[in-house]
Amino acid sequence: MSGIETYDLIVVGGGPIGLSTAWHAARRGRMRVLVLDQYGFLHERSGSSGNERHWRVQYTQKDIFSLTLQTRSLWRDLEHLTGRKLIHEIGSLWFGDTEVATNEGHIAGTALAMDEMSVPYEWLAGKEIEKRYGFTNLPKHFEGFLQRDGGVIDVRGTLTALFHLSQEHGALLRGNEAVHEVTPDHDGVTVRTERTTYRAAKVVLGNGAHVNDLITPWGSGKLDIHLYEMALVTLRQRNDSVERPFWFAFQQPTEEDTNLFYGFPSNPWSVSDEVRLGPDFEVGALDHASQATYRPNPRHVERVTGWVRDHMPWIDPQPVATSTCLAVLPGDPARQFYLGTAEQLVPGGENIVVCASGWAFKLIPLFGKICAELALDGATSCDIDRHGLTGLISSTSPAAPPRAESVR
Ligand SMILES: Cc1cc2nc3c(=O)[nH]c(=O)nc-3n(C[C@H](O)[C@H](O)[C@H](O)COP(=O)(O)OP(=O)(O)OC[C@H]3O[C@@H](n4cnc5c(N)ncnc54)[C@H](O)[C@@H]3O)c2cc1C
Repeated sequence: MSGIETYDLIVVGGGPIGLSTAWHAARRGRMRVLVLDQYGFLHERSGSSGNERHWRVQYTQKDIFSLTLQTRSLWRDLEHLTGRKLIHEIGSLWFGDTEVATNEGHIAGTALAMDEMSVPYEWLAGKEIEKRYGFTNLPKHFEGFLQRDGGVIDVRGTLTALFHLSQEHGALLRGNEAVHEVTPDHDGVTVRTERTTYRAAKVVLGNGAHVNDLITPWGSGKLDIHLYEMALVTLRQRNDSVERPFWFAFQQPTEEDTNLFYGFPSNPWSVSDEVRLGPDFEVGALDHASQATYRPNPRHVERVTGWVRDHMPWIDPQPVATSTCLAVLPGDPARQFYLGTAEQLVPGGENIVVCASGWAFKLIPLFGKICAELALDGATSCDIDRHGLTGLISSTSPAAPPRAESVR
């Protein structure tokens, strides 16, 4: 093993989880930190493509709710350090059928959780939502809430900030270097890439949709995650003077799909007449991330434009651009994320931390901190019990079947 590069921490994956972990580790000082990405940094072939993500504090599960509240101050630190606003509190509007349970949560249950957590919100009847925000033809029973601290996250701004900060603190970032194998033992971890072999005291797997490629060879199963290539649809708004929040429509599923839609108004950080909508459809699961085509399913784009025609008269239903993003969702919707050490999975697994799946962008500064703590201190004070690396499935299990039921 002499002559090989050695590090205190190697992070596999240079997306937001990987970069945030590298930043939190490197800022401790005297840490040799290496981040490896198969493509590069700030690319669009991952789970972080697109320009914006929904920022919300509310969750149906109170332990995750607490995590988002803890994340707020870390976002402020990041904004302060980078001199750029990353979270824009334009509000988070959830409306629809309040009883539909989705992977995002549940309107009625989340309202109860907000009551218990003393987080303010405004309950709105469907008619009030139509009057205030211009939606039309909403089913009569629709209602929901506006949570004003929610809004939109500047994705590119966040990635750029983490890219620079991690390097300023001394982390080394290497693109175009895929990791092929991660083999732990009780003294550390051997990391084999397409170019060379490294040795590290600790490794964090932040490689998103590809995480099972590195876990399966350990022989104890794979994470129960499903991969969906979800459409992103950019449209143009007609004259608009109303201030609009991020919105998410909770609806009963159709036979065809999960029937969930969401949308962002024009971005506060790059004002234009363009808005982005997406279908949140868990259908057509991929067997492997390499099957991603980066072309949206035309039927899903059509479903979005149909929703616009029916309910959003201030938007021109003709798309101006479309793209995709690779969603990595847990088979068990209650867990939301996999976050923990691999000590139960493989000898030496205490030297490996895994962070994957779920709607995690809002938690990026906190999850990076937790990964660094688990790797470098062996523990975190945050409550992440729900997300530990349990509930693996056999590595020979078939891919997830397309699902169209509502409880996801
Ligand atoms: C359509 C869509 C909408 C979403 N909306 C929201 C939202 O509103 N709010 C929210 O909080 N979250 C949302 N999310 C989730 C959020 O975007 C992701 O949780 C987050 O971006 C994932 O970041 P990551 O760093 O884990 O993974 P990624 O960004 O996928 O990064 C993983 C990196 O690992 C690299 N990699 C993979 N394998 C290897 C290997 N073997 N060797 C080296 N490098 C490797 C990849 O190239 C990639 O750069 C959404 C996701 C999608 C798809």
